[in-house]
Amino acid sequence: MKPILIAGPCAVESEEQLFATAEQLDSELRSHALTLDCFRAGVWKPRSNPNSFAGLGKPALPWLAAVHARYGWNVCTEVLTPHHVELCEKAGITTLWVGARTGVNPTEVQKLANAVQHKPFTILVKNPLVPDLKLWTGNVERFLKADVHKVMAVHRGFADGNENVYRNAPCWEIPIGLKVQFPDLPILCDPSHLCGDTTWIPQIAQIALNYGFDGIMTECHYNPEAALSDAQQQLTPAQWAQMITSLSFKINAPNTDLVKQRALLENIDTQLSQLLAKRMEVVDQIARIKKENNLPVVQPQQWQQVKERYIKEGQDSEFREFLERFLELLHQASVNRQQ
Ligand code: PEP
Ligand code: MN
Repeated sequence: MKPILIAGPCAVESEEQLFATAEQLDSELRSHALTLDCFRAGVWKPRSNPNSFAGLGKPALPWLAAVHARYGWNVCTEVLTPHHVELCEKAGITTLWVGARTGVNPTEVQKLANAVQHKPFTILVKNPLVPDLKLWTGNVERFLKADVHKVMAVHRGFADGNENVYRNAPCWEIPIGLKVQFPDLPILCDPSHLCGDTTWIPQIAQIALNYGFDGIMTECHYNPEAALSDAQQQLTPAQWAQMITSLSFKINAPNTDLVKQRALLENIDTQLSQLLAKRMEVVDQIARIKKENNLPVVQPQQWQQVKERYIKEGQDSEFREFLERFLELLHQASVNRQQ
């Protein structure tokens, strides 16, 4: 399956910067026989610091439309208000994204969903800043209900309050949870905002592809050092093409070997759940005996021995850690039941 590729600068800074980037990108696409699904560039930039460059606004829209006219790519930008939606519609820009900051406010997201309702927009729903799967799925649902042309999700990492290697924590279980809930919804990774630094971008992009993401949205600037926002995380078009051609894209095709192994796994899982149910029946008997004989529910030495029996020396450390966590959970469930 062909991956969805979106690239372009963090922001439109001038007509020259926009076209210099687009021109270089076009030449890289041609020399590597790649196609771009959408060219991105922010026109309205929600910044933490009021003195930071906040985008050029409305005057930048015709330049973005001109990129579409010259190169034939779809173009997209971020919208923060229904008025932005209206301006984009007038300028003929039909792919819009909802940013991570807007994503934390369901009222604002709903206003945007109302503004695009029944219109031929493609909406990219970025994950909200906070690691909250329900907030993200709720935002996605608002646009699905608005009956737009197409909805896609974009994973750009989360502000989880910790000092991370990356600017934002990947919390991979969240985009995977979204994929499980919406199997037909394309999901892209934005490694630029996730990493905050070009060093890690190829690595994160590959991890996302390994998980089965449908594409990559990357920030690309003809002269990253001079960028007015997110300078550290923008690749040059040449670096971008080099990364894209080195990534291993996955195919989502049926595979009989995989089907066979999955059937085995399903069988094992069924046995596991039956055994766990049987275990609980034994726990009930143990609870009855303890109660009749006035014995305490928790008998620490006994449990320690059980754990040691299961966890053997020489087991690899990841499996040991899993077993320990699993046994702790099992013990806790058993103790709760006995109570
Ligand atoms: C962006 O893509 O330029 C952007 C601001 O993204 P996010 O909302 O993910 O920070
Ligand atoms: Mn940016």
